Amino acid sequence: MQTPFLSRQAPTTRWSGAAKTKPTTNSEWRCTRCDKLLGVCRDGRMHLRFARGHEYLVGFPVQATCRGCGTLNHATAPAR
Ligand SMILES: [Zn+2]
Repeated sequence: MQTPFLSRQAPTTRWSGAAKTKPTTNSEWRCTRCDKLLGVCRDGRMHLRFARGHEYLVGFPVQATCRGCGTLNHATAPAR
């Protein structure tokens, strides 16, 4: 079974030192408990991606359970 993750190919390390404090992408939403990626904020809405290609673009506030640990996470506003 091959892994679908190809994150190594993304040229994420090309920024110069000014943006050091930011995470790899601009506004990731991660589980507060296990730090699993739950979604990505785009254009003021949250982009959630689940297994088998199901994707949801939802407005705030948004709540979702972590598929890793089951914790209910909530985001009340878009991250900057
Ligand atoms: Zn979790």
